[in-house]
Amino acid sequence: MAFELPALPFAKDGLQPYISANTLDFHHGKHHQTYVTNLNNMTEDSPMASQSLEEVIQAVAGDASKAGVFNNAAQVWNHTFYWHCMKPGGGGAPSGDVAAAIDGAFGSFDKFKEEFKNACVTQFGSGWGWLVAENGSVKIAKTGNADTPMVHGQTALLTCDVWEHAYYLDYQNRRPDYVQDFIDNLINWDFVAENLAKA
Ligand code: MN
Repeated sequence: MAFELPALPFAKDGLQPYISANTLDFHHGKHHQTYVTNLNNMTEDSPMASQSLEEVIQAVAGDASKAGVFNNAAQVWNHTFYWHCMKPGGGGAPSGDVAAAIDGAFGSFDKFKEEFKNACVTQFGSGWGWLVAENGSVKIAKTGNADTPMVHGQTALLTCDVWEHAYYLDYQNRRPDYVQDFIDNLINWDFVAENLAKA
């Protein structure tokens, strides 16, 4: 069965005014769709076509001859994960186990926000900022291009896409402003809690 583009978990205009419907038209409808199409074209005559996305990513990670498959498969996964990290009316502060894990690792929620924003802003070029679980704790990570925490022994909890296509139509070069709005107004902490519970 071919890989498919999952629907957005919110209305196309649900993240306005922070992320416009126009951005989502391109980001989900063009960029994410293209990764799905490329992955299907690259795997259609291979046993990978019947594997899960996660199986494909783990199988080709680090294999230079399969870099195209890895890049497209990981980008399909990263984007699906990213959509779920946001919700209309999101942001605010986490509670429960997530709040406890963040306080334990960073000292305070404010310190977490500062470190997460810094990772997202300082990722040079295209990539992703992350909160991940590793060895029973949580930490900030950043990855370049399509790279993804699962191939580094980490469980992704939260991500912010910092490829220019994620924010350029709405923020032009102001990546820090996009990341600040992501943190303050878009993060779906319920999804982060689901991920931490499975970590
Ligand atoms: Mn993207």
